[in-house]
Amino acid sequence: MNSWSEEFWRLASLITLCLILGLVFNKIVLLLIMGGTLYLGWHVFNLYRLDRWLRGASHTTPPEARGIWGEVFHHFYLLQKRNNEHKKKLTAMLDRFQQLTTAMPDGTVVLNAKGGIEWFNDAAGRLLGLRHQDVGQHILNLVRQPTFVGYLEQYDFAEPLELNSPVDEKCSLQIHVVPYGRGQRLIVARDITRLQQLEQMRRDFVANVSHELRTPLTVITGYLETLTDDSDLHAMWGQSLKVMQEQSDRMQHIVEDLLLLAKLEGNNTPPPHDPVSVPSLLAGIRDDAVSLTARKGHRIKLDMDENLWLYGNEQQLRSAFSNLVFNAIRYMPDPGTVTINWHSANGGAQLDVQDTGIGIAAHHISRLTERFYRVDVGRSRETGGTGLGLAIVKHVLNRHRATLKIYSKPEQGSTFSCRFPSHAIMHHSNTANPQSVTK
Ligand code: ADP
Repeated sequence: MNSWSEEFWRLASLITLCLILGLVFNKIVLLLIMGGTLYLGWHVFNLYRLDRWLRGASHTTPPEARGIWGEVFHHFYLLQKRNNEHKKKLTAMLDRFQQLTTAMPDGTVVLNAKGGIEWFNDAAGRLLGLRHQDVGQHILNLVRQPTFVGYLEQYDFAEPLELNSPVDEKCSLQIHVVPYGRGQRLIVARDITRLQQLEQMRRDFVANVSHELRTPLTVITGYLETLTDDSDLHAMWGQSLKVMQEQSDRMQHIVEDLLLLAKLEGNNTPPPHDPVSVPSLLAGIRDDAVSLTARKGHRIKLDMDENLWLYGNEQQLRSAFSNLVFNAIRYMPDPGTVTINWHSANGGAQLDVQDTGIGIAAHHISRLTERFYRVDVGRSRETGGTGLGLAIVKHVLNRHRATLKIYSKPEQGSTFSCRFPSHAIMHHSNTANPQSVTK
């Protein structure tokens, strides 16, 4: 018999007993009230015992009880036991987690929704200069570098932030912020000093090698030119000399591009700030492109806002824009159209270089700005490419706080868009508005 049916029979027996005694003494109501009070009293007594047990030593064995109350005590006991085991496991896990994060070389700081420090590990204390009494303080009261303040307040943590440690200028940190829960954030600070030193060594190495190669290459190219001019030799070695000259020109281009990249990479100064007449710069590039494509039958279309100038470095911008325009021509084997469009967009300025060429498959697009990444190595070499053009474009745009977007589909042409922020543009009013020229 289960405890509920036992309880039911107990109640039924009590009522029957009260009814019989009531009939015998002719006091049915009185005896039913007395029986009910007795039954209620028993329940209240057991409730009292349960309450005492729960408040006190609920981990000890529960009080003895009969019927349904025995069952209730037993279930409570099992529940408490399960909870205690669960709690023990969680505490052990938390301990292990804390030991792990303490041993981690990366600094970890947990922030609440208001930016107050809830917890941090030893590495965070060492790298960010936090002390145990700083728990509860706002992180921005302790790490006050403007770049860190700006980064934390902008709520865009897609890219990590690099900054010098507030306690040691020579220590470079990479900061990742991971939002979680209800407005809480996890800050992970990694010491990247060694990594940056290695990166600097790599940059110096490439720059030095390129620099050392430049002089011998200039000498070789010079001699090759002299040899080509010699008509006797030209008759005998014409083809070989031509190939040698082409290859040394290619090497010279690679060296020049590597040197330019090294210069752009190693430059941590603020963005260049000279007024640059983008319209005249583009007109010059267009003229060069027209003379280059004269035989191929391409059309070069230039639409531009004549009054839209930029603050920046003219030489770097020329290099980036001409790379885009010459790529458009180089990757358009059949006669087609290159459209260069320079206009205002979203408060800033935008340069679109569109072609009707071979296009690019989607999976290559994200890698195009890597050094020496080519979709088709053979075609790139054939057209005189170095594999460094788009890497240069990306670095020049980074220096100007601009971004590059690439839209392309195979056999449907490509559009390369450079977007400049509002603070980089300059309105130069000396001519009436947009100009459109097609050659
Ligand atoms: P490369 O000197 O090889 O052209 P880039 O860095 O300029 O090097 O370009 C990288 C690769 O991107 C090229 O090899 C080419 O495959 C692809 N690419 C660049 N521009 C275009 C374009 N307008 N149309 C099609 N493919 C292009």
